[in-house]
Amino acid sequence: MHAMVLNKIGAALEWTELADRQPGEGEIRLKVAACGVCRTDLHVVDGELPNPKVPIIPGHEIVGRIDMIGAGVKGLQLGERVGVPWLSHTCGECPYCKAGQENLCDHPLFTGYTRDGGFATSTIADARFAFPLGEAGDDIALAPLLCAGLIGWRSLVIAGEGKKLGLYGFGAAAHIVAQVAKWQGRSVFAFTRPGDVATQDFARELGATWAGGSDEMPPESLDAAIIFATVGDLVPLALKAVRKGGRVVCAGIHMSDIPSFPYRLLWEERQLVSVANLTRQDGIDFLRLAPTIGIVTKTTRYSLNQANQALDDLRAGRFEGAAVLVP
Ligand SMILES: [Zn+2]
Ligand SMILES: [Zn+2]
Repeated sequence: MHAMVLNKIGAALEWTELADRQPGEGEIRLKVAACGVCRTDLHVVDGELPNPKVPIIPGHEIVGRIDMIGAGVKGLQLGERVGVPWLSHTCGECPYCKAGQENLCDHPLFTGYTRDGGFATSTIADARFAFPLGEAGDDIALAPLLCAGLIGWRSLVIAGEGKKLGLYGFGAAAHIVAQVAKWQGRSVFAFTRPGDVATQDFARELGATWAGGSDEMPPESLDAAIIFATVGDLVPLALKAVRKGGRVVCAGIHMSDIPSFPYRLLWEERQLVSVANLTRQDGIDFLRLAPTIGIVTKTTRYSLNQANQALDDLRAGRFEGAAVLVP
């Protein structure tokens, strides 16, 4: 097998030939068909997340076909297409797992961060954390659903039922969430980097009612806002944009420091919450709904050995939607 390996935090990924791996008990081996590139991969490479496994193969939006099945795996077939998300293992025994909050597990593993991921021709996954994807839809188009879609979905659910929804940072996750929110009958207000007219146009094409810079106030008060951008300065701006009782959801795994802000921005029962990881139930719910909604992902394709270019382009905001690596 070949993989793009991060051997040192902050270094470029290296194209590496590795011995083929065998799935252990409860595991499956996939031939990778496509793997999306997520902002979290940048956080891993940049050393912004604690205790990564290094060397590591990043990538946690994996679409592939099972080519080997370990002992004890039930309900999956050779040749079946599955998706492997960020959450790749939970302990099943900690208070969070027992309370149905496995996204907060005390002893988790995460694909492409503490367990090897999908920037590779082949990968091993815990079978219990892989989602059957069926045959509808293209591998590349499906890949961004595995994290941008899933985390976006969880964030949207946590944002509540409000009709007027703000999305700060209109990248891979927001471009999916905008379509879901519109399908649910909500109005989407898209906030981009100030002056990023191209992304504002892209948001309107996807049905946003309004699109503008993150330094602007929306034309009306919002019921909720989700912050996908990694910029802490957006928190007080989003609180300012939501109505009394409104909710601001921070969806990223990492954010720059939040500046201090006057209490009156939080006053009147505004809520500020974060979303961490996903549960398998989130995946089941979202992937069941996605074909009904008819989500169209905008993707930019890179070959696997161009992973560093894809990461650079993501960092610089050089494409709309999501980058996907294809072996
Ligand atoms: Zn646990
Ligand atoms: Zn991700």
